[in-house]
Amino acid sequence: MSIPDLSIIIPVYNEEAVLPEFQKRITSVMATLGLSYELLYVNDGSVDTTLELLRELKTADPQVCYINLSRNFGKEAAVTAGIDHAMGSAVIIIDADLQDPPELISELVAPWKEESIDVVYARRKSRAGESWVKKTTAAFFYRFMGKIGPVALPRDTGDFRLMSRRSIEALKTLREQHRFMKGLFAWVGFPQREVLYDRDERFAGETKWNYFKLWNFSLDGITGFTTAPLKLATYLGFAIAVFSGVFGLKIIFETLVNGVDVPGYPSVMVVVLFLGGTQLMFMGILGEYVGRIFNESKNRPLYLIQDFEKTCPLKDDEIEAVSLNGE
Ligand code: UDP
Ligand code: MG
Repeated sequence: MSIPDLSIIIPVYNEEAVLPEFQKRITSVMATLGLSYELLYVNDGSVDTTLELLRELKTADPQVCYINLSRNFGKEAAVTAGIDHAMGSAVIIIDADLQDPPELISELVAPWKEESIDVVYARRKSRAGESWVKKTTAAFFYRFMGKIGPVALPRDTGDFRLMSRRSIEALKTLREQHRFMKGLFAWVGFPQREVLYDRDERFAGETKWNYFKLWNFSLDGITGFTTAPLKLATYLGFAIAVFSGVFGLKIIFETLVNGVDVPGYPSVMVVVLFLGGTQLMFMGILGEYVGRIFNESKNRPLYLIQDFEKTCPLKDDEIEAVSLNGE
């Protein structure tokens, strides 16, 4: 099997409304580039007709291949599955909803081709069609991560980027369960370059990230197998610490003005409440870390492949697993 110049990885989850249009646009862009390529779709457990559409695309276009995951694993896992199976000398990660304009790919490719830049990421100038809540939370998040993170995260950047073979190989060695992709991208380093663009509105369909869905999702998770209750201690402890701090000031102030009813009571109260709150808070923080160790130590696979279009090369052990299932 010959190695294509580019592997385009497209995670798709219930994207029937945009998929044909996306395919049309990406194919016309790729035709202008004069590079060989594979379009590697990763179906992340879609419940609409996305998979059927992918099968149709596959019959119509030999560049298309797809991996079908056994359920919805989330975008990070889907991208990881794509990265694991991409063959290209460079890999491009792009959303299917046309918020990442495929036309920008030529600009992403140029620095890699001409100057051997390993990572070329698209940075958005604007965020059309996103609510102010999303914009504010995103802005806050980047600022916060920039302050506390070990590696600087480029601002206003998503997963839309080109990565060279050696940076992809580096990324493949990071197998943690909690896959914060932006952080992983930044962690591998290598020469990087940004390309500015205007982020379009979603072409059709809906974003998978509404806040209510995230909330319900997390409630389901609690009963199943998350460590979320540990978090409660963090927030409860923090609230108690703040409250007792304020309450303490009040007692101190009243004691200074009115004198003492029962000797020793105010100071004991302040110390007990404050220490209790702080201890709970730090136990909560410890819990956060223990919870993550718990998840990592289970060492579960990051995703499971249900079936795939054969032109997508698989790792040897996966081919074995599939043939064991009699396929
Ligand atoms: N996606 C996915 N699995 C998910 C959620 C999303 O593969 O569980 C894909 C989705 O099909 C799209 C991309 O990730 O191609 C970005 O998703 P979305 O547009 O919903 O996110 P947003 O742009 O709002 O951040
Ligand atoms: Mg989107």
